[in-house]
Amino acid sequence: MHNYLIKLAKLHRDRPDMFPAGTLGDVGFYQDDPCAIFQGGECNCDPDLVVNTDSDEAARVKRMVDSAAKFATIIRSKRQ
Ligand SMILES: [Zn+2]
Repeated sequence: MHNYLIKLAKLHRDRPDMFPAGTLGDVGFYQDDPCAIFQGGECNCDPDLVVNTDSDEAARVKRMVDSAAKFATIIRSKRQ
C-alpha cells in the first residue's frame, strides 16, 4: 500500500480534530523526490500531508457536487 495512504489513515485515526464532521476538505501529498511513485511504483517515501478543510478547492468541489445533485433532481423530476 502507498505510504501516503497509510500516513493519511494514521492521521485520521490520531487527529480526528483535523477532519471535522460536516466539512469537506482536500489533502495535499508532497512526495519526496526519490519516491517510487514517480516511476509508477507505490509511494515508499515519508510524504508531507497538508489537510485543508473548507479551503477554496474544497468549496469549489462542494459547489460541483451540489450542482450535480440539483441536476440529478431535475432529471428525475422530468422523467416522472
Ligand atoms: Zn511517496
